[in-house]
Amino acid sequence: MSNYTGSVPDTARKTDWRTRAACQDVDPEIFFSALSEETAKAVCRSCPVVEQCLQFALDEDIQFGVYGGLNEDERRSLRRQAVRRQLTTEELTERSRYARQPKEPRTLAWLFEINTIAAFGDHLTWTGPNKAKFQGRTYTPKQVAFLVGRGRPATGILRSTCGTPECVRPEHIANTAERHSMTPEVDAA
Ligand code: SF4
Repeated sequence: MSNYTGSVPDTARKTDWRTRAACQDVDPEIFFSALSEETAKAVCRSCPVVEQCLQFALDEDIQFGVYGGLNEDERRSLRRQAVRRQLTTEELTERSRYARQPKEPRTLAWLFEINTIAAFGDHLTWTGPNKAKFQGRTYTPKQVAFLVGRGRPATGILRSTCGTPECVRPEHIANTAERHSMTPEVDAA
């Protein structure tokens, strides 16, 4: 059973679109903190009901938090544009898509921050694209994690050492040399 406590309030739980929300198993706090706003928006970008959620937030005039991939200021701006320019539904949808585009990553640490969410058991799940671009280079999620965690590019093959293959917590991954220096039990994980 889902333990969904995402950003959409209880009053909307009966709506069908909510059962498909990408935030069902995500800590709702991240949708209401400026520090985790980009992480919340990354979840929304992967959400199949992002347009319905945004419409809900606009209809209900929700004042706080990230809904439909936009924070409250961005939703206000969208609403003003809609009124001022008398936008059609299609035009409004197009503008909301544009507003949802991720900003150019400022640092690799920021790229890592906005593309990861905490997972059960102290693991970190990557929510971004399989290949992340930064300053003209392309990285796998584990390469980003290694670089952020160690401050140097990875050499050798990167693997998780925590038993969760997809985990990207820097402390949970190791390159070939690091694994060889670990105990045989950890190396085999
Ligand atoms: S758009 Fe974002 S806040 Fe809305 S349901 Fe999807 S993930 Fe949750």
